[in-house]
Amino acid sequence: MGSIQSSTPFQIKEAPIDGHRPMKVRVIGAGYSGIYLGIRIPERLRNIDLQIYEKSDAVGGTWWVNRYPGCACDIPAHSYQYSFNPNPNWSSFYAPQKEICAYLQGTAEKFGVLRFVKLLHEVKSCQWDENRKKWILTVHRTDTGETLEDDADVLISARGNLSDPAWPKIPGLDSFKGEIMHSAKWNEKYDFKNKKIGVIGNGSSAIQIVPNLQKVEGAHLSCFVRSKTWITNPFGENVMRKLGLDPNKLEFSEEQRKEFATNPEKFFDFRRIIEVDGNTIHEVSIRGSAMQLGGIAAFAAAMRARLAKKPEIADFLIPAFGIGCRRATPGPGYLEALAADNVDFVTDPIAAVTPTGVSLASGRAVALDALVCATGFNTSSAPPFEVRGRGGVTLGERFAPHPTAYLSVAVDGFPNLFLMLGPNSAIGSGSLTVILEREGDYAVKCIRKLQKEDYAAMAVKPERVRDWDAYCAEYFRRTVYTDDCHSWYKSAGGDGDRIVGLWPGSTMHALEALRAPRWEDYDWESVDGPAANRLRWLGNGWSLTHTPAQAEGEYLGDPAWYIHPRFLDIPLPGRPEEAEEYKALPFSH
Ligand code: NAP
Repeated sequence: MGSIQSSTPFQIKEAPIDGHRPMKVRVIGAGYSGIYLGIRIPERLRNIDLQIYEKSDAVGGTWWVNRYPGCACDIPAHSYQYSFNPNPNWSSFYAPQKEICAYLQGTAEKFGVLRFVKLLHEVKSCQWDENRKKWILTVHRTDTGETLEDDADVLISARGNLSDPAWPKIPGLDSFKGEIMHSAKWNEKYDFKNKKIGVIGNGSSAIQIVPNLQKVEGAHLSCFVRSKTWITNPFGENVMRKLGLDPNKLEFSEEQRKEFATNPEKFFDFRRIIEVDGNTIHEVSIRGSAMQLGGIAAFAAAMRARLAKKPEIADFLIPAFGIGCRRATPGPGYLEALAADNVDFVTDPIAAVTPTGVSLASGRAVALDALVCATGFNTSSAPPFEVRGRGGVTLGERFAPHPTAYLSVAVDGFPNLFLMLGPNSAIGSGSLTVILEREGDYAVKCIRKLQKEDYAAMAVKPERVRDWDAYCAEYFRRTVYTDDCHSWYKSAGGDGDRIVGLWPGSTMHALEALRAPRWEDYDWESVDGPAANRLRWLGNGWSLTHTPAQAEGEYLGDPAWYIHPRFLDIPLPGRPEEAEEYKALPFSH
């Protein structure tokens, strides 16, 4: 039997338990994720030097950058916002890009995020310094051309999954003499009137662009489509019916918006119906499920009816794979636009781009004034800048043969790095924004532990990442995502056999998985090295809250904080299990 007494005396750290050492946190990107961190980090942590680097000239991320005509969110707006800042004023069930961007910028301003944001600062490289236990960053100021160096204890990538536009790999693309643009790099000044326009792709972006360009006066469209895809009814159509709204009239009236703003109960009920609908259609992702089979029958019939004028398009488009294998797209007006007289639906592959248009595999030439590449983003790869972890390994190397990150947030060999909307963190149904909130909360909890418990570094154990990867592979086998389709959810740019875009489960599953970090899945290093004083973080027996401040009778904190109404955890009276309020709560509470 060993003695429970240690041979070396305990060396007390002369600091209060909640002194929280200063730490530097750097965030890459000021979109939905970065703005969330800019709200929560200063709210929940102290002594943090926070900076959010944003390469664009404004905050808003993808909703600032994407400006193509018809750009909107095809998810109900009330389910695509911060849970704590619901907007009663969305003009429409599906909010347009400009409104989402204004909402994001308004939220950033309201919660004081802008003081942390450095605009026009593009992160060029991030390197883990094993001796200093810090990330070393180089940042390029796009306005002055300067390059600066910075360091950070914790690095959070909040750069979004859809921020690196992918141009099509077609020979001769650079030779085109007309106007060429990517959906994410739109030239708002270009006048499409009376132009011959080519649109490549039939993903979510093209599906919103085509109906808008088709209506431009004198325009003629050639839509180059090489893959089958499901065009579904609008997400949330059920909800509209449940709410007694006309699914064909998506705008909210002045009266409705006023009611949302002034009647919190009604507004809550409305939002709840939307969330319940989004979360209970999860079954559709399971191959062979009643919901999936019902959807296939209904949407195939709906597509045929909408394409009655050009049935050959329906023959080409209706897939053999399940709904959702490629991101299901509601696309109001898309099929109607394809059937219009001024639109050619071209399935003959593009062999090359020429100075005046494209030439097709069949040899046919299509003359074009403008070529729109709605060809998506590089999604299944590492960021386009260098991220080097332990031993000089780059994230690009680590992400071969496919990207994988434990619970989508942490990568082995990359200490103190957290990913927001990293690999496997989008979802096929339910709210994405609530997932990113939980990912942000997860990072905040980790930073708090590093700070309070004097850890210099935490790194997820490689075996846990392997377990996660194995879970993902096994889980997706039962879903339609592994059907035979081309989709950015898949590895190798859409051709691989691993699902890297989606969370392996439902939104509700993700919230539960991310709720409390499992500290045992990480390796920890103390700021004092391997021979660290045991339980050093206990400090000197004092708390900041009752440490006298300079002014007489004042303290550094509140020596009675626990009776403050904000911190009270009041039990329900009597027999809580019988109380109505209790029954309404999720049973996990
Ligand atoms: P995407 O879904 O990746 O679609 C890209 C399209 O370009 C596909 O049809 C692809 O065909 C085609 N393509 C690529 N290279 C091509 C080539 N060389 N020749 C011919 N076709 C080519 O990209 P996206 O439409 O930009 O959408 C990406 C994601 O952004 C969406 O899934 C969604 O998550 C998000 N988004 C959301 C909304 C919204 O309303 N919420 C709106 C827009 C975008 P293949 O399929 O054959 O590869």
